[in-house]
Amino acid sequence: MTTDFETQLRAVSLRVTRPRLAVLAALRDHPHVDTETVIALVRAEVPTVSHQAVYDVLRALTDAGLVRRIQPAGTLARYESRVGDNHHHVVCRSCGAIADVDCVVGHAPCLTASNDHGFVIDEAEVVFWGTCPDCAAAPTPR
Ligand SMILES: [Zn+2]
Ligand SMILES: [Zn+2]
Repeated sequence: MTTDFETQLRAVSLRVTRPRLAVLAALRDHPHVDTETVIALVRAEVPTVSHQAVYDVLRALTDAGLVRRIQPAGTLARYESRVGDNHHHVVCRSCGAIADVDCVVGHAPCLTASNDHGFVIDEAEVVFWGTCPDCAAAPTPR
């Protein structure tokens, strides 16, 4: 049986390997996780995989466009498998929770630069910062 992940890998000419499939599955189920979390999730599926192998898989999948790396200022790099739609992120300043924000007009880029300096712009990366509902509901520590 061919999975969607196998089809995705073949479409970008990457060999289908268990670590690559495990990384794609981990990111589908757990969007916006950092590298350490990806390693833990993949090792739950493929216990023999090394840290370096997971790093290599993340780089290969990111380079191939199957995975998107995001790194809001001052936070660890996170990975997600929702790619190609130029969506944005809202980040909690307190706990680092991240949620997706759809592109506001539906097509990338969804923002128009006031001056493009002659560049052909194909992506706009916006990070909204704030306080997540959990943190907003928590009593303020004193
Ligand atoms: Zn929070
Ligand atoms: Zn996202």
